[in-house]
Amino acid sequence: MTGLLALLVLLHAPGSITVASVRGEQKLAVRVIDGAPVVSAKALVTALGGTLRRQDEWLDVFLARQQVRFLVGAPFLVANERTEPLVMPVLFEGDSVYLPFQVVAEVLPRLFRDRYRYEADRQRLVDSGWQLVQGSGARAVADHARAPAREGSRLASGLRRGHEVTLDPGHGGSDPGNPGQFFPRGLREKDVTLQVGLLLREELKARGVGVRMTRAKDTLISLADRGRYCSKDCDLFVSLHVNSLPRRSGYTEVRGFETYFLAEAKTEDAERVARMENDAVRFETEAQTAASERGLDFILKDLALNEYLRESARLAELVQDNLGKVHDGGDRGVKQAGFMVLTTARRPAVLVELGYSTNRADARVLTDRASQRRLAARIADAIVDYLLEYERRTGGRPAEGG
Ligand SMILES: [Zn+2]
Repeated sequence: MTGLLALLVLLHAPGSITVASVRGEQKLAVRVIDGAPVVSAKALVTALGGTLRRQDEWLDVFLARQQVRFLVGAPFLVANERTEPLVMPVLFEGDSVYLPFQVVAEVLPRLFRDRYRYEADRQRLVDSGWQLVQGSGARAVADHARAPAREGSRLASGLRRGHEVTLDPGHGGSDPGNPGQFFPRGLREKDVTLQVGLLLREELKARGVGVRMTRAKDTLISLADRGRYCSKDCDLFVSLHVNSLPRRSGYTEVRGFETYFLAEAKTEDAERVARMENDAVRFETEAQTAASERGLDFILKDLALNEYLRESARLAELVQDNLGKVHDGGDRGVKQAGFMVLTTARRPAVLVELGYSTNRADARVLTDRASQRRLAARIADAIVDYLLEYERRTGGRPAEGG
C-alpha cells in the first residue's frame, strides 16, 4: 500500500467499530498507538467467533476455517501461504497484540471476500458468512471450534512438524560475490543472497518449517563450514547465489534461474558456475581452503555412494518449477556441478542461482523487495512440496536413516 493510501486509512479510522454477526452486534474500540489506528487482535477475533494463538513472535488467527499469521513487530501477514505487506507493523503493548486498522477495513474483506465486508459509512464489519449458512449456524460454530484442533501433529499443509532446513546465503564479509553490475549502486551478490535468505527464513517459518542460517549478517563463513550447519536435525541444505557472466559479446542478454545439485559437471557452463562459486575460497585462510578442497575431491570421487543425489535432484526440480511461477527470466533447468559448499552437507543439498546480475531485467527481479519476497515464497513452497513428497514416499523425514 502506498503512503497516501495508508494516510487515507488513518483518516478514515473511526474511534470504534461495530462487528455484526449472527450473534448480534459488538462494539470494538479503535485505539491510536504511535499515531496509527489499531484494534486489539483478541477483541476482533473473538467478536468474529474465531480463535487465536500466540507462538513466540507469531500470532496465528483462525477465522472461517482459515489461518492468518501475523508476525509481532513486523508489517506483514501470511495467508494462503502468501505473504502480504501491511501499512504498519503489528504492535505489542501491555499484554496485548494490536493489528493495524487496515486489517478490519481492507485485509479481512479482501482475504475472506465471501465472508466479511467493511461498511465504512456505518463503521461496521459485517460477517455475512453467518447469514449464508442460515439454518446451519450450529455446524459453522462446530467447524470453527475444530479448526485449531486439526492443527495437532501436522501443519495446515499436511506436513509433519519439526522439519529443519539450513539456508546458506552465498558469500559475505570480505567476499562480496559478484559485483552486481546492474544492481542498484553499492549492492553486491552477498547483499542480495542475504536479503533473499532472510525472507526465505520468514517464509519457511510461516509454513511451520524450522530454519538455521549459515549466516544472518554480513560475515564470511568458509565453504567447508557452511555445509556443516546441516547435520543431525537438518533435512535440507539450500545455498543461494546470483549468477554473472564475464564481459563478452552479448553477455548482458543472458538471464534466468537455475538450480544445481552436487555431481560432476556435465556442461562447460555448469563448470564455469562452479569455478566462480568455488573461487570464494580465495577469501579464506589457508587452513580453511585446504579443508574445502579436500572435501570436494573426496565427495566427487565418492559420488556413487551419495545417497542424496536423487533427492537433491528432485528438490532442484521443485525449486525450478516453483520459481518459474514468479521469475520471468526463464527456467534454465536443473544442472549439476562440483560445488565445494555442497560437499559437507550430509543431507540433500542444492545451490540456487537466482538470476544474472549482468542482465538488467534479472537485476530488477533480484533486488526489488516485493520480487525478492515472491522468489523467497516460491522457494519455500518448493521446500514444502519436497518435504511432503518425501513424507508420502517414506513415511519419515529425510534425516532418518542418514
Ligand atoms: Zn555466488
